[in-house]
Amino acid sequence: MIIVMKLDVGEKQVEQVKEKLHQRGYRTHLIYGTERLVIGAIGRENHPVPTGLETMPGVEKVVNIMVPYKLVSREAKQENTTIDVGDITIGGEEIVVIAGPCAVESLDQICKTAAGVKEGGAHFLRGGAYKPRSSPYSFQGLEKEGLKFMAEVRKKTGMKIVTEAITPGDIELIDAYADIIQVGARNMQNYALLKELGRCQKPILLKRGLASTIEEWLMAAEYILNEGNYRVILCERGIRTFENYTRNTLDISSIPIVKKLSHLPIIVDPSHSAGEWSLVLPLAKAALAAGADGIIVEVHYNPGEALCDGSQSLTLKNFRLMMKQLPPVAEAVGRKMVVPPACVCN
Ligand code: PEP
Ligand code: MN
Repeated sequence: MIIVMKLDVGEKQVEQVKEKLHQRGYRTHLIYGTERLVIGAIGRENHPVPTGLETMPGVEKVVNIMVPYKLVSREAKQENTTIDVGDITIGGEEIVVIAGPCAVESLDQICKTAAGVKEGGAHFLRGGAYKPRSSPYSFQGLEKEGLKFMAEVRKKTGMKIVTEAITPGDIELIDAYADIIQVGARNMQNYALLKELGRCQKPILLKRGLASTIEEWLMAAEYILNEGNYRVILCERGIRTFENYTRNTLDISSIPIVKKLSHLPIIVDPSHSAGEWSLVLPLAKAALAAGADGIIVEVHYNPGEALCDGSQSLTLKNFRLMMKQLPPVAEAVGRKMVVPPACVCN
């Protein structure tokens, strides 16, 4: 349930409401909207519903949230959540672009790719140091060494880093290097990982599971918010269907559905959806047209040599081409996409 507080509510009144809820075994979350403070109250299914909340000082109304996800729901917070990472805002008017290789392979590879995507206008550099590969025989990532290479590139280029955590035990180390921590599709329902990420301060990029419903995905996000980390970015990356022309089927409809059901930002990964570089640009355009807040794309300075996901990785030239073609699509749906002039000319 949520307790919507009056416009002029005082601190003491908020404390009294929280106290009452805590006595009944509820956990409380303060949700700050642009106008009002809302208290999210999360209890177990058998917790008695506290009576008399409506008449407490400072309370405007009490609303039951009927959907199973609570804190991530539009009922709990009507305004879109925006997430600031340094001077970049995710979920605002401007489209955000995260680009880089699937995996960090060497300092040279990550440096060359980072320089190229930065020049093309990417806001964040992606690159996995811990890779959740379908085969145990595939390249598993450089682990700590990969994180150090990413840190070096951040120092050189100023680009912020997005990298994946695959077990709760990795989080402390990754937290020291990453600006955003990614949860991959295969780990969307790794609840131990989600809970631990809920206790850290970094924004979390939560990919949709390979065969997860939108509700399961939002419930996974709920695990993170319920532990106190409200900075979650959802990422649609395609789902398993009978179609095997593409690696996955990009569920475009999930974008407006998530926007309707939740206040969290949503970005799209056209690379893992397609599995094929030539489909990345049209899928990225479709994502922005459908209302996505950004994209995450795989780019490699030499895809033919990539140790991981080369066939879906854009060359630096194709990345620049994509960055040239996306701004008009963003503008057509009332969004802004700023691309450096050097990129526009190329
Ligand atoms: C990735 O981003 O490199 C990745 C493994 O993606 P996903 O978890 O969506 O398959
Ligand atoms: Mn990949």
